[in-house]
Amino acid sequence: MSESPLPFLPFALPEIGEDEIHEVVDTLRSGWVTTGPKAKRFEQDFAAFLGEPEIECIAVNSATAGLHLALEAMGIGPGDEVITTTHTFTATAEVVRYLGADVVLVDIDPATLNIDPRLVEAAITPRTRCIIPVHYAGLAVDMIAILDIARKHGLRVLEDAAHALPTTLEKELIGTMGSDATVFSFYANKTMTTGEGGMLVTRNAELAKRAKVMRLHGMNRDAFDRFTAKVPSWYYEIVAPGFKYNLTDIAAALGIHQLKRIQAFQARREQIAAAYNEAFADLPLILPPKAVEGDVHSWHLYVLRLSDAAKIERDAFIEAMFAAGIGCSVHYIPLHLQPYWRDRYGLAPEQFPHSQKAYERSFSIPLYTAMSDADVQRVIAAVRRIALA
Ligand SMILES: *Cc1c(COP(=O)(O)O)cnc(C)c1O
Repeated sequence: MSESPLPFLPFALPEIGEDEIHEVVDTLRSGWVTTGPKAKRFEQDFAAFLGEPEIECIAVNSATAGLHLALEAMGIGPGDEVITTTHTFTATAEVVRYLGADVVLVDIDPATLNIDPRLVEAAITPRTRCIIPVHYAGLAVDMIAILDIARKHGLRVLEDAAHALPTTLEKELIGTMGSDATVFSFYANKTMTTGEGGMLVTRNAELAKRAKVMRLHGMNRDAFDRFTAKVPSWYYEIVAPGFKYNLTDIAAALGIHQLKRIQAFQARREQIAAAYNEAFADLPLILPPKAVEGDVHSWHLYVLRLSDAAKIERDAFIEAMFAAGIGCSVHYIPLHLQPYWRDRYGLAPEQFPHSQKAYERSFSIPLYTAMSDADVQRVIAAVRRIALA
């Protein structure tokens, strides 16, 4: 398929260093491979990174698990509605259905590709319980507006921050904005990785307590602790039919060192994004929206959109990139086009004109820390050649 003499440049690759490898080997030699001291340390380090030792950080084996646990702890269930963006990965919405509640999808603001707060407010019904904003590509949602709407209507807010480490809004890290809970992803292609993993972050002690119990089979030792001076090590009580969502120490070992590098990772991503922005400014392309001055974009994704002046179609663009030996992707095929969501809620593209247009004209190009400067130049040259052809 590739006409390039160079090796194929994948769309995404993790950057795993010697520190991560040594920590994983240390875990393997320790005899404690599942959830234990390293998962605990990773949670503590994460709270310290957020700058709030009091914030509860709950390590889980995926962001999907964290989103599910947060909604479960909020008591979301049948008859409830949860509002989110159509321009996301299905994980954001599927967790709502796990609990028997319904998903109400709304369109994006074409300027930011993030959920449009005005459409959120218009979608509220007496059954609405929660809003799930997604910080698309790593650009912060207008959380001031979302939290305002939630306060006004008595709704919960769960941030899907799978793309948003270390994104900031008004100089505050996402995760500290004052929503009920925030969930980060450490999937292989995210801004840091544990292979598979996630972190549920909350200041709500009740929510944290429930999520911790449900993370591991509905097992509770704390209930017993309160009444007895000494709990036998083998004793536990099952208080609910919980899940198996704990993060292993093997994965946490990776996370401890990836987290130490997150600001350096972001700086490199920023550098690549700046090189792309400069190189593509004169092309018939809409560049990705930037963070406001003084705030941080995590640059998880670099999404280009063909402008109305472009002569090439999106699919052909991606095909030409692959022919040049460069992997690209599309984020996302909106949920309103996916058979399950489309058919369950009878959705049509006309209801989501901005997401639909963004989908039809957008593609994501490689942007990750393991790219060399030569890789970046190669991507730039290919995009310029194809866009100007
Ligand atoms: C990756 C991703 C998730 C799911 O993360 P996992 O850790 O793979 O479960 C959820 N939402 C969005 C927007 C994502 O990109």
